[in-house]
Amino acid sequence: NGMQSLKEHLYKVLVIGDLGVGKTSIIRRYVHQTYSSNYRATIGVDFALKVLNWDSETVRLQLWDIAGQERFGNMTRVYYREAMGAFIVFDVTRPTTFEAVLKWKEDLDSKLMLANGQSIATVLLANKCDQGRELTNSGIKMDQFCKEHGFIGWFEISAKENLNINEAANFLVKHIMATE
Ligand code: GDP
Ligand code: MG
Repeated sequence: NGMQSLKEHLYKVLVIGDLGVGKTSIIRRYVHQTYSSNYRATIGVDFALKVLNWDSETVRLQLWDIAGQERFGNMTRVYYREAMGAFIVFDVTRPTTFEAVLKWKEDLDSKLMLANGQSIATVLLANKCDQGRELTNSGIKMDQFCKEHGFIGWFEISAKENLNINEAANFLVKHIMATE
């Protein structure tokens, strides 16, 4: 009918990382604008949809939230399928969760790649920055870490204080759209 149809994009985005790093809290904050300090572990997989107006286009981000215990099993292969991007999350108050970041990255890259053979766009999230900045204090080292290990970038965020989550998501979406 002559009307220009607006372009829509649907992106599956994974949110992975160790148990308790704040994956579910980040998604709730980002999608539902809520936060609770009551800890309740995710069972299996959860989904949430965030709709963004991107210039004159629509981006639907389908966020996949997996339970931390399921890592590195056969389960993750199914779960990763057809994802376009990922957040790997660690908790700035628990160094072991930062050490686990590389295991998550390896698990992801070994099980999933884009049609062009590249690994999917992955952003590193240092969550709970409301609790302190010791781990990520030196921005240069984190930049270096990202470069060495194939992260497109990193953000200090807080689901509790609602810091930097939108910025991190926009950064990932921008990157996916540019390379789609
Ligand atoms: P998940 O297992 O990775 O999904 O982690 P949850 O989202 O369930 O969060 C684990 C615990 O960390 C909960 O008690 C949250 O309230 C808490 N938490 C999550 N994000 C933050 C944050 O940004 N700051 C602080 N201080 N606590 C957080
Ligand atoms: Mg959870």
